[in-house]
Amino acid sequence: MILIRHLSQVATPVGTAAVRGSAMRSLHVIDRAAIVIDEGRFVFVGPESEVPKELRIAEDIDARGGTAIPGFVDTHTHLPFAGTRESEFNRRLRGETYEQIAASGGGIASSVHATRSASEEQLVENVLARADTMARYGTTTAEAKSGYGLDKACELKQLRALKRASERSPVRLVPTCLAAHEFPPESRGSTAARDGWVSTIIGEILPAVAEAKLAVFCDAFVERGVFTREQGEDVLRAARALGMTPRLHADEFTDSDGAALAVSLGAASADHLMQVSDRGIAALAKSNTVANLLPGTSFFLMSDRYAPARTLIDAGAIVSLSTDCNPGSSMTESMQIVVQLATLQMKMTVEESLTAATLNGAYSLGLANETGSIEPGKRADLVILDAPNYLHLVYHFGVNLVRVVFNGGRLTVDG
Ligand SMILES: [Zn+2]
Repeated sequence: MILIRHLSQVATPVGTAAVRGSAMRSLHVIDRAAIVIDEGRFVFVGPESEVPKELRIAEDIDARGGTAIPGFVDTHTHLPFAGTRESEFNRRLRGETYEQIAASGGGIASSVHATRSASEEQLVENVLARADTMARYGTTTAEAKSGYGLDKACELKQLRALKRASERSPVRLVPTCLAAHEFPPESRGSTAARDGWVSTIIGEILPAVAEAKLAVFCDAFVERGVFTREQGEDVLRAARALGMTPRLHADEFTDSDGAALAVSLGAASADHLMQVSDRGIAALAKSNTVANLLPGTSFFLMSDRYAPARTLIDAGAIVSLSTDCNPGSSMTESMQIVVQLATLQMKMTVEESLTAATLNGAYSLGLANETGSIEPGKRADLVILDAPNYLHLVYHFGVNLVRVVFNGGRLTVDG
């Protein structure tokens, strides 16, 4: 057994279900706390003075007055990509538009080109490098999407790379097939070509992904100029029939009624939601589809349009938070900055943000029984912050507060 003592605080949401509304503000906070881990799970969480004497402690860790929170659960990332786009970002700063950059071969097309050219081994190494950064910033579980292959072979290559990386990753990875991320460069010319790509996804890619058990979830980007509502619905219904649970990139740049579509499909999450309508908010509030907000994307695109987090929470929707880690619009692995943006830009409280970044994320991945909170019985996915209390997570912004991380009881970061 491992004893972690001399914690100034443990701060965690509680339970094995999603938390919504005003309940998102109530964390369980224990001062002068200790935690005991056995066989990868929490067996005691409470005041240090109450640690049962009979426990056989093999390892004793002094937390030196740090604060324990659950490991972050990042439920929207595009990890298995090759190539980065920093020059394009600098061109945007100099005034070029996204359309001009795309017309000169930049944008998502450049990521597709680089990812197609990369070997599976390179993608494995890329995923592991990013997972290592995620772990150092406190993430213990992350969803990861394909979607830069945009042909059958390369979509499968991305998902196989995720599977291989999972065996060595310090972060637990949950794979999603996002073949419906965009139309491949070679299929953009006509409506028939675009429909052909949707048919390829449904008829060839999804069955191969299901056969090889390479994805738990299937996602689609329903947006003006990308996939129509009908195309997104066809892809996600086909995926569901093959055993994959839908997620949806919804209402990011325009209101496409994506939130209501996600709810009607029983999707695990509707993601982005910067332009979600009142109707969409009402639909989410009455459902178990998680409103997954990605404020790093608004921040990095220098937009003043953030998802209406306050309205969603006050209406009763389940809200989670993610990095959207990707080479174009949100190149960060840090859930700490996401929590900071959620509070400082979207006006969520620190308690709501921590709940959204842990337990509600776990719920959207179907893992709320296993992770997302610090409670006896759950997997010991745990972060120790170099901070006297959880409020420092936002108050002391822009630095890495993570000192120690346990993933399933295994020490993965030891600062
Ligand atoms: Zn995305």
